[in-house]
Amino acid sequence: MDRGKAAGQKAIFLDRDGTLMRDVGYCCKPAEVQLLEGVGRLLPELKKAGYKIVIVTNQSGIGRGYFTEEDFWSVQRELEKQLGAGVIDATYFCADTPTNETERRKPNPGMLLEAARELSLDLEQSYMVGDKVSDTQAGIRAGVKATILFGAAAAEGTMESGAALVAKDFQEVVAFILGG
Ligand SMILES: [Mg+2]
Repeated sequence: MDRGKAAGQKAIFLDRDGTLMRDVGYCCKPAEVQLLEGVGRLLPELKKAGYKIVIVTNQSGIGRGYFTEEDFWSVQRELEKQLGAGVIDATYFCADTPTNETERRKPNPGMLLEAARELSLDLEQSYMVGDKVSDTQAGIRAGVKATILFGAAAAEGTMESGAALVAKDFQEVVAFILGG
């Protein structure tokens, strides 16, 4: 029996805007993609440690009609180009608007649960990293090992985030995860 496979793969779930790349507000143009400090260098470290790298991103701009799904994927291609081929294992996005709260839209855990099912991930060995309370809440509701609040907006929601760590930079995020 393949025990590793039966137990499921560990993963890092990451928000996109304000976590991996600068949050410019409804990013829909490849030219606007700008990686945050340390992300390009450090994401491969997590991969080397055996984690699947999975993006889970609310994209209500699609539901609001600000941009299309094709625009979303054009941004995604640029992001993956800047990160390097094969760094991102999977990407899940939710086009729903906040008024239309659904199981998939963070802070609900739908995208994480979907990824866990489709990629055979072990949520109890996995982490959720994001710059908003809705990110950490989605991780907690999905039952991940720990959540990390990160980035410019992180300090605002520290109290209600439930985060195991509030990180000042991506280096701290990665050190926490690799430290156990
Ligand atoms: Mg964000």
